Amino acid sequence: MNQWSSTQSNAGCNQDWQERLTNSLEQIQWSESITPIANKISSGERLSIDDGLILFHHPDLNEVGRLADYIRKSRFDNFAFFNSNVHVNQTNVCVLSCRFCAFRRSKRAPDAYSLDIEAYIADLSKYADYVDEVHSVGGLHPEWDVHHYQQLFRTVRAKFPHITIKALTAVEIKHLSHLSNMSFREVLTILKDAGLGSLPGGGAEILDDEIRAIICNGKESSEEYLEIHKTAHEIGLPSNCTMLFGTVETIQHRLIHMDKLRKLADITGGFQCFVPYPFLPDSSRLPEAQCATGSEVLRTIAISRLMLDSIPHIKAYRMNIGDGLAELALQFGADDIDGTVQKESIMHLAGSTAPLDHDLSRLSKLIENAGCIPVKRNTTYQQFEIFVATKPKPRRGLKMAQR
Ligand code: SF4
Repeated sequence: MNQWSSTQSNAGCNQDWQERLTNSLEQIQWSESITPIANKISSGERLSIDDGLILFHHPDLNEVGRLADYIRKSRFDNFAFFNSNVHVNQTNVCVLSCRFCAFRRSKRAPDAYSLDIEAYIADLSKYADYVDEVHSVGGLHPEWDVHHYQQLFRTVRAKFPHITIKALTAVEIKHLSHLSNMSFREVLTILKDAGLGSLPGGGAEILDDEIRAIICNGKESSEEYLEIHKTAHEIGLPSNCTMLFGTVETIQHRLIHMDKLRKLADITGGFQCFVPYPFLPDSSRLPEAQCATGSEVLRTIAISRLMLDSIPHIKAYRMNIGDGLAELALQFGADDIDGTVQKESIMHLAGSTAPLDHDLSRLSKLIENAGCIPVKRNTTYQQFEIFVATKPKPRRGLKMAQR
């Protein structure tokens, strides 16, 4: 790997990845229906929605995963990325009520909370020595406008200059724009100047307004999601993008969603990582959801890698899919598994059982067990450090069985 000449748009990816991919795919025999797709990938041609449909219906999941894995290795060799982060969700009070959301509360709910700046800093202080990123998303608070977040981010950066702030989903930006009577660009510029380092990808759900009307009525439209991220990229804020699948969408919806994101990435180069994750049903209000199975999660991650040729990283979001599937996903095209996290409510309230107590060594071991080399990265994929998991000490008095 180019250890590591990283720009914001290539985010640590090998510059010659397409050439490497072409060379590695030349020798491989694929099944009849996958061969034309593999040939397109080998020649650098973008896959169509119809190609995506073939991949979603192909009977051999492992073959789809193997094809995606060749792209991952061409882009990043055998490195897999993680970071040292903590999630602080500033409030669960939300003026909306998305049907898939188990996190939001009304203002008067007994377990509603809103961390003022002092409480937020006190919470972050507990982890500040061990992390270099705080990931903050939350409900749409009825009173907090852009100046609240401006003050919050300034305070965080002044107290913890080593911590990058990755915060506020597109719908939160839209909400601040509405409350503060400002354009998306004005809001994003104020927040960037106050210390915001990047935008998380949350809130994309499925970029189709009919589906959005069913699962998250009142949220930003598909167009607005794309416009907010485009504006962020234009002012120099990189971002991630996501896809929530397994609710009421079709396979076509997922593929069109990916197509919209890759087209924006073509223009701005500002999406660094795509994070596909399945709907988790606990405490939500979406009984008609299909809910994705484990193999569907792996297939969707693999197809994301195959379709999204202009977005460098694909994340196995272990907070949602758990460590077991995340480990497997590293062989199905994913190259990133998020971070130490330490504290997470949104997925856990919806049913996730992913462990929250991983230190860097345990996270590295998970990556090594998947056959990859762990690399600790910073938020924007500009700094990298190969990490070696410490070996567990042998227990005293434990005799090994003789063969
Ligand atoms: S997903 Fe976000 S916007 Fe929707 S109800 Fe939950 S907290 Fe509010």
